[in-house]
Amino acid sequence: MPPAQTSSDSVEVKKVAIHWFRHGLRIHDNPALLETVEEGWELYPVFIFDGEVAGTRTAGYNRMRFLIESLRDLDETFNNYGGRLYVFTGDLMNILGNLIKEWNVSRLSFDADVEAIWHKRDQDVRRLCSELDVEVVERVSHVLWDPKDILENNGGKPPLTYSLFNQVARAVGDPPKTVDDPDFSKVTFKVKSNHDKLFGIPDVETLGVFPECEQQNQRHNNWVGGETRALQLLSQRMQVEKMAFSVGMVMPNQTFPNVSGPPLSMSAHLRFGCLSIRKLYWVLRNAFEKSHPGKGFSNSAIGQLLWREYFYTMSVNNINYDKMEENPICLNIPWYNDQEKLKKWENGETGFPWIDAIMKQLKHEGWIHHVCRHATSTFLTRGDLWLNWVDGLKVFTKYLLDADWSVCAGNWMWMSSSAFEKVLQCPKCFCPVRYGRKMDPDGVYIRRYLPVLKDMPLRYLFEPWKAPKSVQEKANCIIGVDYPLPMVEHGKASKQCYNMMMEVKNKLLATGKEMELCGPANTEEVAQFVWMPGNHAGTCHQGEEEANPSMLCDGLMGM
Ligand code: FAD
Ligand code: MG
Repeated sequence: MPPAQTSSDSVEVKKVAIHWFRHGLRIHDNPALLETVEEGWELYPVFIFDGEVAGTRTAGYNRMRFLIESLRDLDETFNNYGGRLYVFTGDLMNILGNLIKEWNVSRLSFDADVEAIWHKRDQDVRRLCSELDVEVVERVSHVLWDPKDILENNGGKPPLTYSLFNQVARAVGDPPKTVDDPDFSKVTFKVKSNHDKLFGIPDVETLGVFPECEQQNQRHNNWVGGETRALQLLSQRMQVEKMAFSVGMVMPNQTFPNVSGPPLSMSAHLRFGCLSIRKLYWVLRNAFEKSHPGKGFSNSAIGQLLWREYFYTMSVNNINYDKMEENPICLNIPWYNDQEKLKKWENGETGFPWIDAIMKQLKHEGWIHHVCRHATSTFLTRGDLWLNWVDGLKVFTKYLLDADWSVCAGNWMWMSSSAFEKVLQCPKCFCPVRYGRKMDPDGVYIRRYLPVLKDMPLRYLFEPWKAPKSVQEKANCIIGVDYPLPMVEHGKASKQCYNMMMEVKNKLLATGKEMELCGPANTEEVAQFVWMPGNHAGTCHQGEEEANPSMLCDGLMGM
C-alpha cells in the first residue's frame, strides 16, 4: 500500500495517530477522536471494509448505501478541514498492521463497539497494538451508559428486567454529558493528490451489494446517511418535541403513530453513530427542563432510548443473543420450519394488505414504524404463522437501516414471547385486518406500497378477498390472480398458535423449575414497550384486555 505523502518543508516530526471509524460515524461528541485531536499530531481518519464492520456482512442494498453515504459525509467533513477519510478493503489485521508500520503510528483511537460480536475483533486489535507498541484510546459513546458500569452496579450481571435496568441506571447516575467538537486546526493532515484512487470510498455495487428491487432507487424518503443529515433531522425533530412538551409529552413518534406521514426517526443515524445518543438525550432533556422549569426530568420520559440501552446491556456478555437454542435468555419454542411461508411473508405476499404493505416498505425504504414492526413480527411468529423469530430477524437484519445485532434481536425475542415478555401470557395477538384499519384509517399507506390495490374501495382494502367479484373487477384487481388470497385463516391460525403457546407454557411449568428468563416487572413496563395511541399498550397480555380491544384478537375470534 503506498505510504501517505510526507511534507518536505516541515522540520518538526509529528507523532502519528489513526482514528479508526467503525460505528460512531461522526465528529461531534466523539470522545476518542477528541482526545486524539487534542494531542495535535498527524491524523489519519480510517475506515476498513473487512466484511464485518458496522454490520456489513448482513446488510442489503439500502443499509449499505446508508453506510456509504455516511462515509462520504465524513470524508467531506474532513476535506473541509484539509484532511480526507482513508478507506481500505481487505483483511483487517493485515491492513492495520501495515498502516501502523508504514505511517509509523503511535496511537490508535476508536469509539467502543459494546456489542458482544465485536469483542474478539477488538481484543485482537488491542493485542496487535501492544505488540507494535501503539497506544490504544477506546472510549464509550454509542450508548448512554457504559454497560460495564451497569453490570458493576448489578453484581456483575446484566439486569434481567427493564425496571431493574432503570433502577441500576438511576444508581449509576446521569449519562455523561457530550464532549466538545474537535478543533482540527490542532492536527496535521497529509493528503495525496491521487487520494480518491488510492483511498477513495467504494460504490455499494463495488462491494458486491446490488439493489434487491427497483423501488430502492426511487428515493421518496429522507433516509440519507451521515452526520450532516442526522443533525438536520435532530433540529427538525426538536420542533416536534417542543410541540409535544407543551402537552407534557416527550418523544411522541410511538404514541401518535403516523405510518404514512413523513418519517421523523433518527434510528438509523443512531445505529451507525451518525448521531450521538448522548447528544439526543441531553438536547431533549435540556429542552424539556427549560420548558418545564423546576419540574424535574425523569428518564421514563425517554423510555424508548432506555429500551435501546437495555437491549445493548443485556447482550453485552451473550454472544448467542441473536439465536434461540444456545441463548440462555431465550425460550426454546418448537416453531415450524416452512420456507415457502417464510418467503411469502418476506416478499409481502401473505394476502393481508396491512402486513404486505409493511414488508414492501421494509424492502423498498428500509424503515418501518414501530407499530408496523409489531404487526409483522407477531404475524410471523406467535400470531399466525408460528415461524421462528430468528428467521424474521434475518430478514429485518438485511433490510432495516437501523438493524443492529442487539436491538433487533431483543425486540424480536420480546415480540415472539421468547424473552423479556411475561412469558407465554399472551392469549391475544394483533389482528392483521383490524390493526391495519386502525393505523391506516384512510388506506393511504396500503395504497402507496401495494399499488395493485389502489382502486380497491376502503371498505375491502384490508380484507380484499371479501370484495364481491364485480368490485374486484372494477378495481382491476382479482384476488387470487392479481393479489394473493390470504395465506392463513387468521381466526383459525391464531387460535392454533395460542394453543401451542399454552402447551409450551404447561410443559415448562411441569418441569417445576424456575424459568431463568427475563420478563417485565409489571404492566407499566409492558405498556412502555408496546405503547399505543390513545392510552396504553396494544398489549397481548392477560388482564390488559381493556387496551385497544378493537385491534386485538384473543385467538378465538375469526376475521
Ligand atoms: P422513537 O420513538 O423516536 O424512539 C427514539 C429512539 O429510541 C429510536 O430511534 C431508537 O433508537 C430507540 N428505540 C425506540 N424504540 C425502541 C425499542 N423498542 N427498542 C430499542 N430501541 C428503541 N430499533 C432499532 O433501532 N433497531 C432495530 O434493529 C430494531 N428492530 C426492531 C425489531 C422489532 C421486531 C421491533 C418490534 C422493534 C424494533 N426496533 C428497532 C425498535 C423500534 O421499532 C425503532 O427503534 C423505532 O421504530 C424507530 O423509530 P423512531 O426513531 O421514530 O422511534
Ligand atoms: Mg434458548
